[in-house]
Amino acid sequence: MNKYWSGLAQSLEPYVPGEQPRDKKYIKLNTNENPYGPSPRVLEATRAAVDDSLRLYPDPTCDMLISAAAESYGVSKDQIFAGNGSDEVLAFSFMAFFNPGKTIVFPNITYSFYPVYASLFRLDYVTTPLDSTFNIPSDQLMNSSGGIILANPNAPTGKALPLSAIRDVLAGNPDTVVIVDEAYIDYGGESALGLIDEYPNLLVIQTFSKSRALAGMRIGLAFGDKELICALESVKNSFNSYTLDRLAIIAGTAALRDKEYYRRTTEKVIKTREVFAGELRRRNFTVTDSAANFLFAAHKSVPGERIFTQLRERGILVRHFKMPLIENNLRISIGTDEEMAAVLAALDSILSE
Ligand code: PMP
Repeated sequence: MNKYWSGLAQSLEPYVPGEQPRDKKYIKLNTNENPYGPSPRVLEATRAAVDDSLRLYPDPTCDMLISAAAESYGVSKDQIFAGNGSDEVLAFSFMAFFNPGKTIVFPNITYSFYPVYASLFRLDYVTTPLDSTFNIPSDQLMNSSGGIILANPNAPTGKALPLSAIRDVLAGNPDTVVIVDEAYIDYGGESALGLIDEYPNLLVIQTFSKSRALAGMRIGLAFGDKELICALESVKNSFNSYTLDRLAIIAGTAALRDKEYYRRTTEKVIKTREVFAGELRRRNFTVTDSAANFLFAAHKSVPGERIFTQLRERGILVRHFKMPLIENNLRISIGTDEEMAAVLAALDSILSE
């Protein structure tokens, strides 16, 4: 930091993403990526799109992707917004729907980008505590003056709220926008997407980085009333009209069309998750019931940080948050069966020391 930094830049506490190391090959279970890779049809379509047309700007309306999403989800095109990863869609949403001087509300343990965006956009926020088993008490998310954001399933706990609770939150905040971040919804939660016609204050955000295995392409969507989508378009076109590149638009469209491949790979992840959760419990871990592609687990006697460090020494990366209430927990992404067997073998060696 020096005298050339703006006051804003000096005030920021940026989000710290899970590491993407290059020093050696790790079993990488720290950023909830998909172990199975994108559908072969996505790869084929993307490769075929690498041609001279890359000299041209992409379609700023992402019409091909948005049409495919409209068909796939049974909503109309003007109810969908596309952005460069759901992080960008979230940032635009904070700008489009939340106001300085009003207070937004989110749970105290949730996706750690929310407070970062709040400070970037100079928004006040309060957090509501999760209960002792990491459930979001939805009755605390009522009558916010500034709006609500929650992740469902929540991160890093993996716990999902039922649709009835989301309905309660929507009905309890009729004058502000409720953003439901469904990054992990395909792994077991109930999507609120079907409620967008009913609640003009609902914005549902999804990503192609998890169940669709396209984290490297950066694609996110928002679904909501067409007036909300207009606000997002307005923010986007005041910032960067071409947030999705040509290849991302093609890859995302092909992914939406290969439902069968993604159904199969998502089922595999869920099956592996359930077996792995059982194995962790047998080894004296407390494990939350996860509806996501990761598990949130704490050993009953060995500190989380110690396990994290020793897994890393054995070439296995998981995520550990040095935060009150969850410092003993590890967030472990679900990989292939072979990768999870390697984690269990490493844990057996660590726990026997
Ligand atoms: N929301 C949640 C809850 C997440 O965990 C993530 C992944 N870090 C994102 C949004 C962002 O995903 P992406 O920008 O890759 O779409």
